[in-house]
Amino acid sequence: MLKTIPMHICSCGKQYKRLKSFQEHRALCEMIKLATATENKDHLLDTPSTLDMWLAVKVLIQKNIQLETEVKKRGIGYLHNGKN
Ligand SMILES: [Zn+2]
Repeated sequence: MLKTIPMHICSCGKQYKRLKSFQEHRALCEMIKLATATENKDHLLDTPSTLDMWLAVKVLIQKNIQLETEVKKRGIGYLHNGKN
């Protein structure tokens, strides 16, 4: 077993020890980059792969659940309570 853990480094500079975390971050990071790069339409040619899409969507869903939980915990009243 190697003692040094290889780091996965995203193009944005973030470093990850776990490949899964890195893949999830990178997929979302790349999509955010593409989605916000309005000045250069060439980016449209670099559409993410289905796998990257799925990883990014998974992260977004997880974040959404976390946010909903957080909002409910804080008791912010303007959101309707879902039928749990
Ligand atoms: Zn990144």
